[in-house]
Formats: sequence, C-alpha cells, structure tokens
Amino acid sequence: CGIIGYVGKEDSVGILLDGLRRLEYRGYDSAGIAVSGKNGISIVKSRGRLQCLQDKINAGERPFGNCGIGHTRWATHGEPSDANAHPHRCGHVTLVHNGIIENYMQLKAERLAEGVIFHSDTDTEVAAATLNHFYTGNPIAAIAKTVEAVEGSYALGILFDDQPETLYAVRRDSPLVVGLGSGENFIASDMTVLLQHTKRYLLPEPGEIAVIRKDGVEMFGLDGKPIVKEVRTADWDA
Ligand code: GLU
Repeated sequence: CGIIGYVGKEDSVGILLDGLRRLEYRGYDSAGIAVSGKNGISIVKSRGRLQCLQDKINAGERPFGNCGIGHTRWATHGEPSDANAHPHRCGHVTLVHNGIIENYMQLKAERLAEGVIFHSDTDTEVAAATLNHFYTGNPIAAIAKTVEAVEGSYALGILFDDQPETLYAVRRDSPLVVGLGSGENFIASDMTVLLQHTKRYLLPEPGEIAVIRKDGVEMFGLDGKPIVKEVRTADWDA
C-alpha cells in the first residue's frame, strides 16, 4: 500500500501514475487518484492492478490538474472493490489513507447520527467524514481536531474542495515524506519513489501537519503554530 501526492506546474496524472508504479512493490489490491483541476476534484479508482486504473483513465475518465493524490490499497476494512478503493470523499474533503482507524465504528455511528451517507465499508471513509465534520474553512484546525478524534495508524493525503492547488498531509505510525522540488512539491510513503524528482525532503513527526503548495511547504503543530523542520537530503540513488 502507498501514497503519492503532487502539486506543481505539470499535469499531475502522469506523475501520480508513475509514483503508484514505483509503490507497487509494497503490495496492493486496488488503486486510485484524485485530481484537482478547473472543474473541481475528479476521482478515478479501481479494484485490481494499476492497469485497471490506467484503462479507466484511457477510456475517457482522464482528469487534468496540477494538484493530486494517488493511492495503492491493501484492504483492511472492506473487501477489495471499486467502492472501497481510495480516494474517499465526504463533503469538502477528499483523501487517501494508509493504515487503520481503530475507533472507526464509534466515529461512524456519530456521523450516521448526523445524517452522513457512506458509500464504502472502509475505516478511511470515516476519517474523511470526521475531517469534513470538523471543517469550517480552516484546514489546519480541522486536521488537528481529527488527529485528536481518530485512534490508530495513518498517513493521510488530503484535498479540500475550496483550497485549490494545496495538498495537506498528516501521519501517525504510517510512513510519509514530503518531497521538496523547485516549483513543485510532493508527498509519498517512501522517499525512493520521489528520487527522480528530488532528493530533498522533510520527515513529518506524528501530529505535524504539512501544507504543500507548488511554491513551498509549511508545517504546523496541532496548536496551529508553525514548525521549522530540518531539510534532509537523500544520499542514495534511485
Ligand atoms: N484501512 C484502509 C482500508 O482498508 C487503508 C488500507 C491501506 O493502508 O491501504 O481501506
């Protein structure tokens, strides 16, 4: 399973698919992408090999946009299926997730009581619904509240409908790096996936929130205060 994300000047679809291919070695049963473009956020996802996703994209579901997230899934909650494949969307929130939300049953009951309709059997969709529940226009505040509400392991790559050209990420007990390019930036489960783009990266600690735009990356604590992170350089080759 793995996560990739891109924001920059290029069309993101090719970069996301290439990243997913490089993540294949981690194992997966489904794959998907979400791309933020002129017509909002488009999601294409499929059970099965990456070729199944590629076929859907070739068959006319090809989105365009400079910002996007991609996912390879190793199912833990909900069978491998198109509906359970990531990205998942609820309200203003679209996200990909690696890991397990341990308290998803309790959170799902809370959201169902509020009238939220679920489209999958995943713990991940509950994370999307929880983040959307807390979202009132301030992504960092909503992510911080979600981190407090959610138990388990996660690396999340997040898009908000009304925050164009911006990627958000947070992790706990699942791997995630932020790759630093020039005029473009990335997230990935694994730095080796990004080495053809850049060698410079940040390593978010649990509960640190990354805000990633094409011109720069900012990190924030759960209290909303900015954090200065050490820029690391990968000293190995792709
Ligand atoms: N628990 C999530 C699911 O089953 C994420 C699995 C993963 O890490 O790929 O959809």
